[in-house]
Amino acid sequence: MNSGDNCGYFSGTDFGPRLKKLYQEMDAAYSAASNLSDFNCDGCDGSKCCTVDLIIHTSVEMSYMRQGLLALDQTTKSQIKGRSLEIVEFKRLNPFGPDYRNSICAANFGGRCAIYEHRPMICRLAGIPHFIDRPDQTKICGPGCHRFETVFLASNPELKIDRTSFYRRLAEMEIETIRTHGKRTHSLTIAQIFAI
Ligand code: SF4
Repeated sequence: MNSGDNCGYFSGTDFGPRLKKLYQEMDAAYSAASNLSDFNCDGCDGSKCCTVDLIIHTSVEMSYMRQGLLALDQTTKSQIKGRSLEIVEFKRLNPFGPDYRNSICAANFGGRCAIYEHRPMICRLAGIPHFIDRPDQTKICGPGCHRFETVFLASNPELKIDRTSFYRRLAEMEIETIRTHGKRTHSLTIAQIFAI
């Protein structure tokens, strides 16, 4: 892969195989939790999850998402890029205005993710409550989506996906990237990644 330094993220080392394996483990943990709780996304168009405000913090994931974009057919790629440019412009004009706030992720086509196999961790694990055990011995917990909290929580009050090792291993890859480049990438929204 070419370096993406001039795009705001670094793509130098191809972490694809390691990231793919990590994502497979995330998907397995997610499937186990959804099977246990009967949680599903039936009837949800993804517009609550697929908001433009999703921010990606690692170059490792940014590069992988770009690989997914580049593998699409030309028409879909152009549509995503066009939508992303529009969303970035909405944000530039007014990050708190309705045009930006009501935008849906540029990769969401009628509730389907165009880069599904390359979607980032935040998308893969959305919906089901989680916790992270931090190195300082504190624990961070996060809720499920609106549908989980209103329909599934009562019958699954203890269900939480442990994200600790997922975060740690993603951070390890990013640290390797930072060591290679001598600096870290800026966080970018999905629209900013695809507008490049
Ligand atoms: S990348 Fe895919 S799953 Fe993630 S917000 Fe966009 S459309 Fe939704």
